[in-house]
Amino acid sequence: MSVPQSALQALEATIAVLAPNAAEIAREINQIAPRVQVLTGMDDAGMARAQALVTWGVEPGLLARMKALRLVQANGAGVDGILACLDGAAACAGPQGLAVCRTVDPSLADGMRAYVAWAVLDHLREMDHYRRAQGDRRWAQRATPLAGAHRVGVAGAGELGRACLATLAAMGFQTRAWSRTPKAGLAPSTSHYVGPAALAEFLAGCDSLVCLLPLTTQTRGFLGRPVFDALPVGAHVVNVGRGAHLVEEDLLEALRSGQVARATLDVALTEPLPATHPFWRSPGVVVTPHIAARAGASAVAAQVLDNLMALREGRPPQHRVDLRRGY
Ligand code: NAP
Repeated sequence: MSVPQSALQALEATIAVLAPNAAEIAREINQIAPRVQVLTGMDDAGMARAQALVTWGVEPGLLARMKALRLVQANGAGVDGILACLDGAAACAGPQGLAVCRTVDPSLADGMRAYVAWAVLDHLREMDHYRRAQGDRRWAQRATPLAGAHRVGVAGAGELGRACLATLAAMGFQTRAWSRTPKAGLAPSTSHYVGPAALAEFLAGCDSLVCLLPLTTQTRGFLGRPVFDALPVGAHVVNVGRGAHLVEEDLLEALRSGQVARATLDVALTEPLPATHPFWRSPGVVVTPHIAARAGASAVAAQVLDNLMALREGRPPQHRVDLRRGY
């Protein structure tokens, strides 16, 4: 936190928090800044006074009604849910526009690197086979494949993608990254591919492909037939980005044909995934309920306060989203 504690102790502001863990975030905000009024429910008068909003996304039209709003702080890494409900709010938020910021927090990166490492190992070490064998009380050994023979590609070399790549590289996997622009700070052993022209070459060497892209107009439907066809036969696809990155029908077809052998899906187009959805029972599909990584309430609270103070003092807030780029 870059703001002196005394300034936060004296800060007077109204912050609305519309999130499943709103009470926890509110407690953390008031621990740092006791004079801040935190609204955790819909209250029209309060909403009109709030200078900051913490959320993943709100009902259409709400932001435009929040006339004092200067900052929307995502309580996570992704901002697609917020950008989808911006309407005309950016235009009515003064000459600087409305600042949309995301939370960047080591707890998110730690959660994501553990999930991705688990997903890749669970596939590589055929743990489905051993769980089935245990169910049948069978001692059924198979080969012990080594990480060094498995190529993992991460699409999206941002905060979370880079954390996963560092962990996978340290575990001995062959790693490769794909991003829009060149990146510094990747392990020397990680091959890096940049932009659409390098996508086919990147995909051709992904035994496991991890999607850690933000959801934008360019990346929606990224995990579709052209990408699956460009992977090695029998590849593993891990979607920890957003449900809308995946073209569900294309994945089901790729699983049927064997082009994709396994899919680990932490996110879904409709969440919760409907009970009738074929993914629950498709061979080769592992579903988890969007649990890969969560920002800690204390980090969200610290970052919304820091960013609100920054805007008041005319400093740039941290982790501001480029609204034209979409992330
Ligand atoms: P980030 O730091 O913004 O990184 C995004 C990366 O994607 C950057 O490397 C960016 O490239 C790349 N990218 C964006 N558009 C691209 C394109 N068209 N082609 C190629 N590369 C592109 O984001 P992050 O913090 O790592 O988070 C990534 C996503 O993870 C979030 O947006 C969210 O959807 C998801 N997430 C999921 C969970 C979960 O529990 N499942 C939890 C947290 C986050 P440049 O850097 O070159 O621009």
